[in-house]
Amino acid sequence: MTPVSGQIAQRQVTSNVDVVIVGAGFAGMYMVHKCHELGLSCLAIEKGDDVGGTWYWNRYPGARCDVPSLEYSYQFSEDLQRDWKWSEKYATQPEILRYAQHVAERFDLKRDMVFRTTVTRAAWSDDEQTWHVDTDQGDVVSAHFLVMATGCLSSANKPQFPGDDTFTGEMYHTGSWPHDGVDFTGKRVAVIGTGSSGLQSIPLIAEQATHLTVFQRTATYSVPANNGPNDSEYESQVIADIAGFRARNSATRSAFGGDFPANDISVFEVEGDERRQLLEERWGSSGLLFLGAFNDVLISDKSNNEVAEFVREKIRGIVQDPKVAELLAPKQTIGCKRLCLDTNYYATFNRENVTLVDVSTSPIERLTPHGVFTDGREFEVDVIVFATGFDAMTGSFLKANIHGRNGLALTEAWSAGPLTYLGLNTRGFPNMFLVTGPGSPSVLTNMIVSIEQHVNWIGDCIDYMRASGHRVIEADEQAQSDWVNYVNMIAGYTLFPTCNSWYLGANVPGKPRVFMPLLGYSDYVAKCEQVAKADYQGFELSA
Ligand code: FAD
Ligand code: NAP
Repeated sequence: MTPVSGQIAQRQVTSNVDVVIVGAGFAGMYMVHKCHELGLSCLAIEKGDDVGGTWYWNRYPGARCDVPSLEYSYQFSEDLQRDWKWSEKYATQPEILRYAQHVAERFDLKRDMVFRTTVTRAAWSDDEQTWHVDTDQGDVVSAHFLVMATGCLSSANKPQFPGDDTFTGEMYHTGSWPHDGVDFTGKRVAVIGTGSSGLQSIPLIAEQATHLTVFQRTATYSVPANNGPNDSEYESQVIADIAGFRARNSATRSAFGGDFPANDISVFEVEGDERRQLLEERWGSSGLLFLGAFNDVLISDKSNNEVAEFVREKIRGIVQDPKVAELLAPKQTIGCKRLCLDTNYYATFNRENVTLVDVSTSPIERLTPHGVFTDGREFEVDVIVFATGFDAMTGSFLKANIHGRNGLALTEAWSAGPLTYLGLNTRGFPNMFLVTGPGSPSVLTNMIVSIEQHVNWIGDCIDYMRASGHRVIEADEQAQSDWVNYVNMIAGYTLFPTCNSWYLGANVPGKPRVFMPLLGYSDYVAKCEQVAKADYQGFELSA
């Protein structure tokens, strides 16, 4: 295989690398490291001007992880794990970005990365068994393998409202926040959206703005983060047995919380007092593992409602105005949309400078030069913050304009929803690997763990192909179709398909409604290992 052109850092048109990687978030970064380990030439192409992906783009006030940082971090290097110290249980965006930059520096990743460059097209040539990748800078890069590390939550969903371009104030999306920050002092602010990004930013914006109006379409279940400085004694214990800690986490269904396993009892197996006590314990300390109080919360409607009612009662206990509390109390299945973690979210609605506007029955009709118009009324504001989420899981893949065998467009292949085998490859697109693609556990897990598992699997697969003289790999049609059915069947046993979540693509008008992630990390890993051991069963390999 041809080595990388030495001129690539100056971003001249290059010839050929073994692996082109699109994206330099945690997935792209680790993929570059993997290529270095395997002696493969590679190039990562990144739209932003630095590494970090999610943590480069999402700089809104309050942005932080909601999986504890001791777990939401790489595990491929023991030294890195020992050396890096997190200051809080849930680190802030700036700290996570510093971590990403540290990793890039420490493992010399940037020598094979270009920034401020967007992949605008990738096309497979059957004759050459090569991917040709075009960028917005006029580069053309050829590669034997294409690794899409473009992220599950990297393509902003900004709803279009009539009058968008008439608004004369400032507009921001949480997923592409200005690097210099935004000063809300003395301003009237609107936040549209109450998912995780809205919940994290609303309390901090409220502290600064003259007035904050929150437009809520669906109320959100959130549990308290109980964040604070990292407990150094606990951290030392974890580091002393870091391999064991990581192994316990990886053995769970969501790849985190191995030391705080889900209780193996159903909601109605215990009496009311004990049930409440179990929920209280989790409410007080477990973060996202709150739903692990019982084993049937996402399976039984009745059990789900019992747990949901516990949270609704908490909200009623925090929010002083009963009408506002009722609006904030979610009615849908708990856990069906991703659970949130917050610091002071519900209490923020007790502030005099905060107004909640319900747009569930009267949607936002339009933007005006001075604000937001809904239900026959204009709300005048100086700033609008769109906390409206992402075209999740497929958005960035489809935007990259990928064409496989015989010019087949990915947009066409996935027109009725994404089709993959193991979430790692899609038929018709040979030698293209997806990191945390649809059909893999991805967003239902601690994503850094899933990213490392995928990159390790991809690295092993490329290594196997080199050793066995295979040049082309592609999912088998039957294996892919069985896998898609399996992912749907597993979701069908649960309450996940019962609400309009982004897991289903329901947040983006016109997007096919398909449950995209696979439930169950540990079983998935076992399946991937079995496939690899059986000479990549379910894939077609050719010389
Ligand atoms: P990303 O970090 O999204 O990186 C993908 C990169 O690809 C981006 O930098 C993008 O610019 C680039 N790219 C995309 N298309 C192109 C193109 N055509 N050309 C060039 N470059 C391109 N997960 C958790 O497990 N725990 C958490 O606590 C958590 N918190 C989150 C908080 C926020 C605010 C968000 C939005 C997500 C969070 N996630 C969390 C999910 C998070 O996205 C993943 O944990 C992880 O960071 C994803 O890494 P990635 O490298 O796969 O993708
Ligand atoms: P999100 O969960 O999709 O929330 C988007 C919000 O915008 C929802 O409340 C949605 O309402 C609302 N919305 C969308 N279009 C609207 C419209 N036209 N009118 C009114 N409201 C509209 O997006 P997110 O908050 O950015 O989070 C996405 C995911 O990123 C999370 O689920 C999580 O995985 C990750 N994340 C994690 C953290 C963290 O704590 N670490 C922080 C941020 C993000 P509906 O619900 O009615 O659609």
